[in-house]
Amino acid sequence: MRILAAAALLASLSCSPGRSPEPNRALQGAAAPEAQPRAKARGSVPEAAPVPSEPITNNQEPITPPPSPPPPSPPPQPITNNQEPTTSHVPGVACVALQPLGPVPQEYIDAAAAGLRELYGFEVRILEPVDLPESAWYEPRQRWRAEKLNDFLRDRVPEGCDRIAGLTTQDISTTKGDLEDWGILGLADMPGTAAVLSTFRCRRKVHDVSPVERFRRVAVHEVGHTLGLPHCPTYGCFLEDAGGKAETIDRETFLCDVCRERLGWVE
Ligand SMILES: [Zn+2]
Ligand SMILES: [Zn+2]
Repeated sequence: MRILAAAALLASLSCSPGRSPEPNRALQGAAAPEAQPRAKARGSVPEAAPVPSEPITNNQEPITPPPSPPPPSPPPQPITNNQEPTTSHVPGVACVALQPLGPVPQEYIDAAAAGLRELYGFEVRILEPVDLPESAWYEPRQRWRAEKLNDFLRDRVPEGCDRIAGLTTQDISTTKGDLEDWGILGLADMPGTAAVLSTFRCRRKVHDVSPVERFRRVAVHEVGHTLGLPHCPTYGCFLEDAGGKAETIDRETFLCDVCRERLGWVE
């Protein structure tokens, strides 16, 4: 638990919006030469003063200009995300945080981020990985309960973000109808703050769609639920019910007009 707490602290530190501004090098460089004329003037004193004495008043000492005022503080730096500026298509939602739960290959993180950025126009902030919380471990099936992962994630939305999606390579499950523990690709609040996505069931080789591309679509689908989108009957829409199957995900390639209208989509 101590490791968890430390990881939590790390994550919250990493997403604090302010960062130390870079020193203004141009201004510092301009201030530096100011010291030099003063040193030269002192060096010339013995030549003009034959009697060595404590110069209480030294008329030969040229009047040195007053020291330059300290350089003004540099302007605060904008928060950088190493991303192109984005414009959200969804009123009221601008930023989604991605929280890796345990180690997640970078290509999956990047794919989820790209999916959300490119479709919805969201800013995506990638947080430092944290361990999966023990509270979500489901001993009978040796996997993780998705609704408990979402309980954990809901408290971790960083300042300035509107949604959070946890990413994991672990198998996740939830109760579905009469099925006590059903393995899933992802689970989301609808509408709400948190979603969790697993790469585990994206890996099945069924079509030509790569596991990474599948995971990108799962991210779009689950975050769509957090925005209030229910499952969509349109064949091939990202919000079609995948039923936990890679086969369904593989045909989902667009967000249909009905879903866009529901979101109040802005071009
Ligand atoms: Zn769904
Ligand atoms: Zn749709």
